[in-house]
Parts: sequence; structure tokens; C-alpha cells
Amino acid sequence: MSEKTKDHSNSTRIFIGLVIGGFIGYLFNIWGENSLRDGLLKYLIDPMGKAFLRSLFMVVVPLVFASLVVGVAQLGNVKNVGRLGGRLISFYLATTLMAVLIGQFFISTVRPGEGVSAEYRDKALTSMQSQIAGLKEKSTAVNDSLWPGLVEKVIPKNIINDMAEANMLAIIFVSILFGIALISIDNKKSAVVVTFFDAVSDSCIKVVGWIMSLAPYCVAALIISAVANFGLEVMKNVALYIFVVMAGYITHFFLSYSLVMKFLVRIPVKEFYKRIVPVVATAFSTSSSSATMPTTIQNLETRFGVPERISTFAVPLGATVNMDGTALFEVIAALFIAQVFGVDISLTGQVTLVALVLLTSIGVAGVPGGSIPILMSAMASLGIPAEGIALILGVDRLLDMGRTVVNVTGDAAGALYLAKVENVDLNQNLKELT
Ligand code: ASP
Repeated sequence: MSEKTKDHSNSTRIFIGLVIGGFIGYLFNIWGENSLRDGLLKYLIDPMGKAFLRSLFMVVVPLVFASLVVGVAQLGNVKNVGRLGGRLISFYLATTLMAVLIGQFFISTVRPGEGVSAEYRDKALTSMQSQIAGLKEKSTAVNDSLWPGLVEKVIPKNIINDMAEANMLAIIFVSILFGIALISIDNKKSAVVVTFFDAVSDSCIKVVGWIMSLAPYCVAALIISAVANFGLEVMKNVALYIFVVMAGYITHFFLSYSLVMKFLVRIPVKEFYKRIVPVVATAFSTSSSSATMPTTIQNLETRFGVPERISTFAVPLGATVNMDGTALFEVIAALFIAQVFGVDISLTGQVTLVALVLLTSIGVAGVPGGSIPILMSAMASLGIPAEGIALILGVDRLLDMGRTVVNVTGDAAGALYLAKVENVDLNQNLKELT
């Protein structure tokens, strides 16, 4: 079988894995806790999912560092790096703003918070007390993390430390700097280093390909674990809220990115959605933009022909600072809780919320539940009770899966946009890579 057909059928298999995983997870959920079910989860299904997740994380740092160094060194000069960065950040800001406005539209028209019973509200607040206390502590540290905290996040004292902790902003900063330095030294010397890192990055992409060939089974395992533990009962109490968040995700996912593909990237919209299935499935099952990064980079290269110098710049930056799904979710969640507690948010308050969400998405870690402390901090600054998060924590795993899908799709869209404006012939690539 050719590489192309293999890629295509793997997407279908991943999709089937997702559906079957969801179904088995549901059966596990209604089966309830018992030793056989718990044993299967603990000794077979959970380790399978964990192996997948860890393997993807394993590739992130060497892949991003190596390919970004090569990418920048090949860009030729510092001005080019600045140009790419400027375009990308404007794109990310514009799409995140769109997401936030969609979220605001849905929450203010449907107003799901008004239908939540006081009984559920009080029960949730009491039962989640200890969890909330821990989260509150984290959320108070958030304010400083934006400024001057950004300085520490971007400029490392010791890059090895930041690599060990996969701090993407520092890794991106140092690889760009290193790449620029390579351009500025003797060509003969730098060529050796560039070739070395080029081989490192190609090998990483190869490894991601191997990991992804196991994705149909591993994605299924992750979904089984997640769905088996969903609090399906709790969902009933906030069903309308879940509906509003999902409606927001779906609108942004299908409407905004279609517009981006049609008018900015100028590739067939259907092709975009068809080819990103592995990225969507990885994000959905892992709930982590960071873990999905290698899949996104590999997918953009092998199925859209996006050059590595562009994807390895746009995707890690996106996974760190661009979170459309999270921003959309944060606006809905904050205003939902305000509605439940009867806190009236003025127009100025709403505009402040939008600005806060846009800015603070930089601080959200691309891991499951990464946005919760940031959301609590934004709520507190608007006078919305932060402990109200208890009302939605029980159903957040499901919504986290959805927002991570939107987050990574936004990153992929950013890389495609950058490829387009950098004159990569994507339509030709799509023909060759079908
Ligand atoms: N799980 C999300 C991500 O990794 C972050 C969040 O919104 O909690 O993109």
C-alpha cells in the first residue's frame, strides 16, 4: 500500500477507534464499579492510553527544538522571522476574538444559568469544597504570571531546566535565537549543525508516524477510560450549559475555520476537515494541546505539505498562546456562573472579560483542565464567585475534550494560513498528497 493510502485509511481507523471507544466507555459507565471492570481499566486500558500520551510528550521537545533551529537557519534572516511572527500573532488574535464573540452570543441568548436549581448549586458548592480550595490557591498566582511573569516564561536562566519541564515559550525563544546565531556565523561550520538538527527533526517525525499507527487502539483506550468515569448523573443538572458550550465549539469549528480555509487559506474546506481527523482524534482523546503538538506537525507536513519551518513555528507557538476553544469556553463558563449567582455583568464588565480571556489564554497550559485556574482568576476580577466553578467541574472532562479539539484546529489553521501567505502551493500539495 502506498504511503498516501496508508495515511488515509489510518484516519478512518482512528475515527472508528474513537466511536468504538465511546461506545465501550458508555457500557463501562453504566456497568458501574466492580472488580472486573476496574481491573480491566487499571491494568489494560489505562496503561495503553498512558503509553500513547507519554510517547507523544516524549517527542515534543526534541522535535520542536531541532526543527525550529533548522527552520530559522533556513529562513535566512531575522527580518523573516519577525514577519512570520507578526502575521501569525495577528491571525491567532483575530480567530480567538471570533471564538470569544461566538461564545458570548450563545451564553447571552440562551442564558442557561437562569434555569439551574438552587439545590444543585448548594450541593455542588459543598461537595467540591476541598478541590476548590486547591484550585483557588493556583488561581491567585495567575495574575502575576502574565506580567512580569512572561519575562521568566520566555527568557530561561537555564534552557535545560525549561526543556525538562517542556516550557514551550522558552524553548521557542532559544531555538529561534540559536537559529539566528547560526545564520550569523561561518557558513561551513553552521552547515554541520543544521544538517545534524535536520536529521534529528526528521527522525522525530518518523517516530510520530509510528506512534500514530497505533493511534486507533490507543485513542479508543483513552476514550474508554474517560467515558467510563464521566459523571453522567451530574450532566443532567447543567445540560443546557453543556449544550451551549458544545454549540459554541461546533459553530467556531465548522463556521470560522471554513471561512478561514475558503477566504484566507484558499483550499477546499472539505479537504481541510477530512485531513485533520488524526489531529482532532488525538486532541479529543488526550485533552491536551501539548500532547497533540507532534501529531499536528506531522499531519500538516505529510497531508498538507506544510514545510517544517512553518509548522514547527506555528504549532508550538499556537499550542502555547492560541486557545480558541478555551477562550470560547471561558467566556461561557464565567457568564454562566454569573447567571447562576445572579451577578449582573455590565457591558464594560463583558468587554473586560473578553480582554482578560484573550490575554490570559497565553498563560493556559495545554494540559487537561489547564484553563480552570485562569478562568477562576478572571472570574474573581469581575466579581463573579470563583468557587462557583464547583458547578461545572463535574462535567468539565467532556467539555475539555471539545475545547482541545478547537484549540488544536486553530493551531493547524494558523500554520496553513502562514504557509499560504509564504507562497506555499497548498492546492498542488493536496493533489500530490491525496
Ligand atoms: N485542555 C486544554 C488544552 O490542552 C486546555 C484547557 O482549556 O483546559 O488545550
